[in-house]
Amino acid sequence: MTPKFIFVTGGVVSSLGKGIISSSVGKLLQSRGYRITIQKFDPYINIDPGTLNPYEHGECYVTDDGMETDLDLGHYERFTGIRTTRNNSVTTGRIYKAVIDRERHGDYLGKTIQVVPHITDEIKRRIRLSAETGEYDFVITEIGGTIGDIESAPFMEAIRQLRWELGKDAINIHLTYVPFLKAAGELKTKPTQHSVKELQSMGIQPDVLILRTEVHLEDGILQKVANFCNVERDCVVQSEDLPSIYEVPVNMQKQGLDAAILRKLNLPVGETPALGPWRNFLERMHGATKIVKIGLVGKYDLQDAYKSIREALIQAGIYNDHKVKLVFINSENITPANVAEQIAEVDGVVICPGFGQRGIEGKIIAAEYTRSHDIPTFGICLGMQMMVIEFARNVLGYADANSREMDAETPHNVIDIMEDQKTIKDMGGTMRLGAYGCDLKEGSRVAEIYGAASIRERHRHRYEFNNKYEQEYENAGMKCVGRNPESDLVEIVEIPNLKWYIGAQFHPEYSSTVLNPHPLFMDFVSTVIKNKKQLQ
Ligand code: GLN
Repeated sequence: MTPKFIFVTGGVVSSLGKGIISSSVGKLLQSRGYRITIQKFDPYINIDPGTLNPYEHGECYVTDDGMETDLDLGHYERFTGIRTTRNNSVTTGRIYKAVIDRERHGDYLGKTIQVVPHITDEIKRRIRLSAETGEYDFVITEIGGTIGDIESAPFMEAIRQLRWELGKDAINIHLTYVPFLKAAGELKTKPTQHSVKELQSMGIQPDVLILRTEVHLEDGILQKVANFCNVERDCVVQSEDLPSIYEVPVNMQKQGLDAAILRKLNLPVGETPALGPWRNFLERMHGATKIVKIGLVGKYDLQDAYKSIREALIQAGIYNDHKVKLVFINSENITPANVAEQIAEVDGVVICPGFGQRGIEGKIIAAEYTRSHDIPTFGICLGMQMMVIEFARNVLGYADANSREMDAETPHNVIDIMEDQKTIKDMGGTMRLGAYGCDLKEGSRVAEIYGAASIRERHRHRYEFNNKYEQEYENAGMKCVGRNPESDLVEIVEIPNLKWYIGAQFHPEYSSTVLNPHPLFMDFVSTVIKNKKQLQ
């Protein structure tokens, strides 16, 4: 079929969860047999979020093909199981760069380069790119930011033009907010009306409205919004706050969102899919009332900074019939004197990824404590590197062991800069990024967990385990059990004598999805639960 385009915009306020709505729409269409992809267009000027501090924009998510992207791509993959690529994440910076590069090359010789049509044409080209592969029936495009932002104006104009060009093959879903004013005891639709007017003033009529609300909206309110905004009543749905984001697709289906979309695009509606596996997951989630506490040892005191790790742990918990309670342990505050007390609160520990000096000594102290007390521990990227450094300092006897990232002069550089990183000067997009192969050592714990001899996982780092020390580690009990066949880089270390002490140089969290939880997280959480029972 000719690909259909769905544009998802947001109004009134930010943080309404456009990413979750886009993912849910993707999921629902997929369950009707359609091939879908979801892409995010962000109006900021950074080429990608790779150089952004997580405090600014949350976690940086990495695609298989090595693009550093917005964390919403993580939701897209977790909900739908699709694999996103560099085409799925575009920023204003990338758009301008492409246009300016072309200008310098002489491609527009003689012409004045302007936002309209040159920038808008480039946005349109990128929006159509995924569709041109012929691999998708639906291309869902989420536009970051809020209607009325100066930055998003070119994107809105591009959508307006595309809708005109695509005719019946494109629709717009607009997400707004209906606040409840406590003092007046009333729900207010005016912000929604204004937001839709703003959209209309840009020449875009929404086809579907999704109203975010903390309070259930009665039919009268939905009818009123429909009347004032020129939208059919059955194309106005509400998205109430729910205990879990994973409830959203079912809630949207219940209100006929997918059916409304299909009708608007002149496609047959047919029977409502049962969403069997998804509902099974929700059922397990509802049944998982026993709590297991997992500590996230990291430096970013912000939920979104470790988004994919959190979700991977929560998913693994549900499949192990437990509710994972995540406890953030700020590594900057961990000292040898208080580590026991801080870790005592949790049943297992994840040592989180990161960059730079801040908070690393706390991670090392935590790694020493959990190793010497046999508390299940999962080190991810920088977390793995800290496990390796701790082992060198306290077991191999190199008190000054470090990573070159933290101490360029360290005589015991157990974590060293990768050879091909040494000459790189630019910060953006230059790390070891994306999926690489990894051979697992026969008989190792990880080989058993994965049930495979070789795997592929996504990376985002500049530093690596220094193979010069491998034999010493092996002799002392920390085993190098995964390595990249081409470069010989060590990708996984484990201490088989402990209950669960595994460090991965890659980011397994990126590929854990609702219907396919990641084996490492599954096994880690199940071990944490078993260990907890033994202690009780
Ligand atoms: N800073 C470390 C490196 O560059 C680890 C990166 C990470 O945790 N993603 O190797």
